[in-house]
Amino acid sequence: MLDLSSFDLSTIPVTEDMIDAEKVAHVQLKNPLEHALLVLTKTGYNAVPVLDLDGKFCGIISKSDIVEAMFGIEKIEVEQLYSKTVEDVMNVDIPTVHVSDSLENVLHVLIDYSFACVLDDRERMVGIYTRREMLKQLRNEYYQQRS
Ligand code: AMP
Repeated sequence: MLDLSSFDLSTIPVTEDMIDAEKVAHVQLKNPLEHALLVLTKTGYNAVPVLDLDGKFCGIISKSDIVEAMFGIEKIEVEQLYSKTVEDVMNVDIPTVHVSDSLENVLHVLIDYSFACVLDDRERMVGIYTRREMLKQLRNEYYQQRS
């Protein structure tokens, strides 16, 4: 059985195994929804961070946010993809972690979100930490204990 008593997430920095910002697909506030849908479709991700022109974290946008924005009263309105921007439909109430935080802080965010955005003191996104990386940490611990 996995014994987590000696596995202290509070001692592991979030920067370990974080995906650096330059490798993170993102969209910008003023991008039309068409561009965001293209990014989400081409990358295969369900959601990506939204940044402003200075790289400051503003929220996240998902495929379902975009599809929902296209629903009119009677039909799907494809023209919304061109008239609305990311800023109009993104989610802004998103928990984040600080670059000096530990994986313990990330764990709480990953209960409800598939990735946690990592910010510096100026709210700029320096990377993301994904559920996949967290599960890899747990898997490594599990097999270390069994060996
Ligand atoms: P994973 O745990 O690897 O399945 O990733 C969870 C989520 O994190 C994905 O569905 C994306 O929303 C986001 N994600 C992972 N890698 C990237 C990346 N390189 N760029 C943007 N978003 C990412």
